[in-house]
Amino acid sequence: MLRLFRRDLSSGSLAQDHLDVAHEGATYRVSLKRVTGARRFTLRVRTATRDVVITMPKRGSMNAALDFAQRHAAWIAARLHRLPDTVPFRAGAIIPVRGENLAIVHSHELRGGVLIQSGNGDEPRQLHVVCSEEHLSRRVHDFLKREAKKDLEAAVRRHTGKLGFAARRVTVRDTTSRWGSCSASGSLNFSWRLIMAPPHVLDYLAAHEVAHLVHMNHSDEFWSLARDLAPQTDLAEVWLRAHGAFLHRYGAEDDQADVRTNVR
Ligand SMILES: [Zn+2]
Repeated sequence: MLRLFRRDLSSGSLAQDHLDVAHEGATYRVSLKRVTGARRFTLRVRTATRDVVITMPKRGSMNAALDFAQRHAAWIAARLHRLPDTVPFRAGAIIPVRGENLAIVHSHELRGGVLIQSGNGDEPRQLHVVCSEEHLSRRVHDFLKREAKKDLEAAVRRHTGKLGFAARRVTVRDTTSRWGSCSASGSLNFSWRLIMAPPHVLDYLAAHEVAHLVHMNHSDEFWSLARDLAPQTDLAEVWLRAHGAFLHRYGAEDDQADVRTNVR
């Protein structure tokens, strides 16, 4: 069953910025984003912000947008229901770091800082964060980004070392559509969220982008080099396809993401 609410349509205004799509008793809000130069309608369910956006031509008709949303209502519902629950960075949350689940423990004592405590077996180890309450999420984000940069720089150095050159620059950002990229000038950029994945996955992404410094494509030669550098290439690809999207659930309250879950 599908029904569209047309209450905002009577004005026919170009300024309308959303429509509501009903499907099997639930209503889904779909934001409209008019883009100069867009030639078609693109529908996206964003993992990090858990919302739905249609990108459409600047002068695209509302009827066409409605029709498009209507035809994809079941798809929208299915995708939204499949989204993993978000896990904000707050005390008590369990978050993966280097593939290991850690419990965030918050304290006001002593001086500010974040550290991973050694464990005692059964319980998850703790990510101990000392700061004021309102800075907790930011502190955890900053810590994970720093750790990601450290691990990625080391992995890139390891792989470029085998090839006898160095990367120009390694940066980490909150990229959402790609895990890593390589610029023509030789800078490598990665998602800081890779610090949450098992180390063999982070290592693979580093090798993948280093291999792009030699082959700026996905040719057979490229894959052969990537596998030479990272024999776990295929396993890591499988891991990313199965679990990669879940990495976006953590700390999502602070993300301004425009998410697809492509591996690269
Ligand atoms: Zn690639």
